[in-house]
Amino acid sequence: MGKVVIDIEYCKGCELCTTACVKKLLKIGTQFNKNGYYAVEYCGEEGACTGCALCAMMCPDVAIEVWK
Ligand code: SF4
Ligand code: SF4
Repeated sequence: MGKVVIDIEYCKGCELCTTACVKKLLKIGTQFNKNGYYAVEYCGEEGACTGCALCAMMCPDVAIEVWK
């Protein structure tokens, strides 16, 4: 089981992480950051994340941390 922590201030809404997650646990949210981008948020059930960290590896802005 994994846990995703997203720093929305680093997110630019490019959606590379949303396509990287095979379980579709990330989506563009309704909250925008100080740069005016709608940021990604976790949308899965508690415990659904495997902690594979593909999303974090794909993020060019290092906005995602994954804890196992
Ligand atoms: S760690 Fe893996 S399963 Fe969890 S949100 Fe990221 S890509 Fe999806
Ligand atoms: S890959 Fe990074 S910058 Fe792009 S939407 Fe995901 S968290 Fe935001």
